[in-house]
Amino acid sequence: MQYSLLDDSDSNAPVEPLGWRVRTSKRVRNPKIQVFPHGGVEVVVHPRTRPREIEAFVHENSAWIERTRGEFRKLRPAEQNLPDRIELPAIGEHLPVHYNCSDRNRVAERQGIIRIDARKLTPAECWPLLRDWLKRKARPVLKEAVAVQKDFTGLSPKRVQIRLQTTRWGSCSTTGTLSLNAALLLRSPEELRYVVIHELCHLEHMNHSKRYWQLVGRFEPDYRRFEHCLNRAWQTSPQWLIG
Ligand SMILES: [Zn+2]
Repeated sequence: MQYSLLDDSDSNAPVEPLGWRVRTSKRVRNPKIQVFPHGGVEVVVHPRTRPREIEAFVHENSAWIERTRGEFRKLRPAEQNLPDRIELPAIGEHLPVHYNCSDRNRVAERQGIIRIDARKLTPAECWPLLRDWLKRKARPVLKEAVAVQKDFTGLSPKRVQIRLQTTRWGSCSTTGTLSLNAALLLRSPEELRYVVIHELCHLEHMNHSKRYWQLVGRFEPDYRRFEHCLNRAWQTSPQWLIG
């Protein structure tokens, strides 16, 4: 994040207390300030920087900090730009997301918290990290779902692929590869199950013919309702998922 040093011409004016924390890093030569989407402020300094210097630096930048906080406030509620939690109804998990300004971009889930380290706390940097995390998270869940429905239907794919797509929940290739969308974790367990059944049935019929739907109906009689819900579900996908 770019910031400009402001004139310290009004240093005697009362300064409202800013909530900020200090992080030290030997790699940082000049102090850096990061404003978080939820209003928190972090100052990254070399370990040898004195507290008085840090304080002065924050105060010099207080106008910029407030302006940035204001920008985040404008963006946040309507657009879910950087979500503070992610709900995964398919597996009954609700995970808070913690953001941290860092020297490199990475994502990890530890103790039920998604931790994002990013050079810039912007959608451009953070959304791909969240998507990476979701793909990793989805892999064992969707593979297991296929294994369960394989036993239930007797239909067995050659290979299972997990992708993150914005246009379809799943697909089935003529060579017997099933592709499932990691975004299914954001749907209900019943919808996830239905998509797996839908794609497995394509192993028998590579079309949407009457015979195909008869086969689907044998495993999920309520398939029309699922088709309807899943086709509409794209409209409510969070922004970080669609990119
Ligand atoms: Zn289909």
